[in-house]
Amino acid sequence: MLDFVGLDVLWLQVTGTVCNLACTHCFITCGPKNDSHPVMATDDVLSSLARAEREGVKELYFTGGEPFLHPDILLLIERALAVAPLSVLTNGVLIDPPMARRLHELSEASAYSLELRVSVDGTTPEENDPVRGRGTYHAIMRGARCLVDAGLLPVFTVTTVHAVYDRSDGREAFLDHLRHLGFTRPRVKFIPPFDIGRQARRSSRSGDRTTTSGVADEVREDSRYLRPDDLHEGEEWVLQCGSCRTVTARGVYPCPILIEEDGARMSDDLDETFVPIELNHSACTTCHLEGFSCRT
Ligand code: SF4
Ligand code: SF4
Repeated sequence: MLDFVGLDVLWLQVTGTVCNLACTHCFITCGPKNDSHPVMATDDVLSSLARAEREGVKELYFTGGEPFLHPDILLLIERALAVAPLSVLTNGVLIDPPMARRLHELSEASAYSLELRVSVDGTTPEENDPVRGRGTYHAIMRGARCLVDAGLLPVFTVTTVHAVYDRSDGREAFLDHLRHLGFTRPRVKFIPPFDIGRQARRSSRSGDRTTTSGVADEVREDSRYLRPDDLHEGEEWVLQCGSCRTVTARGVYPCPILIEEDGARMSDDLDETFVPIELNHSACTTCHLEGFSCRT
C-alpha cells in the first residue's frame, strides 16, 4: 500500500473525457463522443475547490478532455487562482487572441501562478498529426503563439511516442525548434506513454514501445504489475498519488491517469479518499520505474 501524506495537489477533470481531439495515444481515450466522464457542473468544481482550500492544497490542475470546452472555464480559472497556483492542461486548439488576453488578465490579477500546458507531439505536422489528428500541429502552435503574444509562457507537453524524444539530443533539438519558431524561453515537459486506454490498443497493434527506452526491460516478463515489496521506503513522497487526488463528475480517483481504469474509483466523497491506496494498475509500474509525475 502507498500511504497518503495529505492533499498537496488536486486535479479536476473539468471536462471529463470530452475532447475536441481523439489522439491515438490518449491514455483515457478522450474524444468528442466519449462522455464516460461528462463535463463537471460548475458548482461541483467550485465545491471541490473550497474543500481543497480547507485542506491547504498547494497546487491545482484543470484537465479533461479539453478544459476550454467547459462553458464556464474562465470563471473556474479565476476561482481556482484565488485558492492556489493553477495549471491548465490543453491541446491549445481553442485558444485565440481574446482568450489568451483574458487568461493573461486573470494571471496578472492573481497572487498565484497560472500555467498553460500545451500538448504537442513533434516538431512537424508529419510527426504530430498522425498522433493528434490532421491539421493539429499548426492549430496547436497557433494557440501557443497567442499565449506568448498575450504575455504568457506556455509549457509544451510532449508524450514521447517518438523514441527520439527520450534521448537528450532529441530533447535539445525540440528546444532548438521552439527557439527557432520564436519561443525564446521554451519550457517542455516530456511524458512517457502509458500503456492504457487508446495507447494500449495502439501499441498492441503496432508493437510500439510502451515505456521509455531501457525501462521495458526492467518490467517483469510474467507481470506488468507491481508487487508490494517493489515499493521503496518513502515512495509516497515521490509518486504524486501519495499527495494528490482527482475529482471527476463520476467520483474521485487516485490520479488523472486512472480515471478510465476498472477498480480505480475510490468514492464520491473527496474526504473518504484520504487513505492509503494499492498501486495495482499497469500504469503504476510506469510511474514507479520512471519516477514519473504528471505535475508541471
Ligand atoms: S491526449 Fe489530450 S488532446 Fe488528445 S484526446 Fe486525450 S485529452 Fe484530448
Ligand atoms: S498511475 Fe501513477 S500516479 Fe496513478 S495511482 Fe498509479 S502510481 Fe500513482
